Amino acid sequence: MTKHKITLIPGDGIGPEVSEAARRCIEATGIDVAWDVVEAGAAVLEREGTPLPDTVIESIKKNKVAIKGPIVTPVGKGFRSVNVALRQKLNLYSCLRPCKSYEGLKLPYNNIDLVVVRENTEDLYAGIEFEEGKDETGELIAVIEKLSSRKIPEDSGISIKPMSVSATKKIVKFAFEYALKNGRKMVTAVHKANIMKFTDGLFLKAAREVAKEYEGRVEFSDNIVDNMCMQLVLRPYNFDVLVLPNLYGDIISDLCAGLVGGLGLAPGANIGDEYAVFEATHGSAPKYTGLNKVNPIAMILSGVLMLHHIGEDKAGVKLEEAVRLVIKEGKSVTYDLKEDRNDPAAVGTSQMADAIIEKLGCVPN
Ligand code: NAD
Repeated sequence: MTKHKITLIPGDGIGPEVSEAARRCIEATGIDVAWDVVEAGAAVLEREGTPLPDTVIESIKKNKVAIKGPIVTPVGKGFRSVNVALRQKLNLYSCLRPCKSYEGLKLPYNNIDLVVVRENTEDLYAGIEFEEGKDETGELIAVIEKLSSRKIPEDSGISIKPMSVSATKKIVKFAFEYALKNGRKMVTAVHKANIMKFTDGLFLKAAREVAKEYEGRVEFSDNIVDNMCMQLVLRPYNFDVLVLPNLYGDIISDLCAGLVGGLGLAPGANIGDEYAVFEATHGSAPKYTGLNKVNPIAMILSGVLMLHHIGEDKAGVKLEEAVRLVIKEGKSVTYDLKEDRNDPAAVGTSQMADAIIEKLGCVPN
């Protein structure tokens, strides 16, 4: 009997290419896996009338674990983000984004090893929005003006920023537990509590309360988000695990990806109490669709996180080692890891996966 049943969502844009690379690398570790391949995204919308069919949710609920390629979210119009809907429907409240630098790359800093823990269900990202000019937006503006005695221009659009004590405590606890399990020394809460007192202020207060439970075991600090951006660029070694509300987490994880060589190297996981969906930090990079050009490592390292999650630690360690060796060698790497992005010696997505699979054969058990 197959040991692991895993949902695979190829995604769109570059999604199918990087997903296929990750699938091949995961299989090459020798683990026993059966994939349940289900589709979501723009193409599915045309066929089924929804970009996120129930079959996708049902598959993840059945298998508990999924790996997913990126999916396009149209800007300003069209369907709501499938990615956000998936996180909300499955209560994948924590987003884990490790950012680690690998030897062989020309980076501003070596030996970066940061972990971003992003709240995944609330904040401005919750998708509660009111469009400019709509009746309900006018009604909302009238209520806000009455309750706050502040004037809002009538041609405004409004996005709501809900943040709760319960969700904050859950994500901060997740960050501390991660730190404890992984031998990390410090958790830093990132916020803008000086300005948004009732949302980010609440986040900071709740984070401090949770931090007390870990006193003497894991250090706690906090930082205002704008200052955090500067500190990460100037002194990244001062930080370890960062815990952030949804929107800042989204932005800071791209900054941290930049510190370690770019989005092509930044893996991620969306984890809840029952289900987990593994996906790269990057999006569907539409301009590279079908070109066999982009870096599959972010997706492959998301697979490494998944292997650890399903208890296949040995396979996870081996696959990461194979990735490390290929980057260090610098021969079979995609354009984004070359000093000159037009270097004709850069290989394609599938060739880089081939090189990683070949290296897997040399990694001792
Ligand atoms: P993006 O991450 O898709 O791409 C930005 C740039 O980063 C690319 O043009 C490319 O230069 C680089 N890049 C990204 N992935 C790379 C890789 N694997 N290898 C090498 N370079 C890589 O961001 P975007 O262009 O802002 O978004 C495109 C679409 O993806 C949007 O519709 C967005 O909503 C969606 N998106 C989806 C997810 C997700 O599915 N979780 C996440 C982020 C963005």
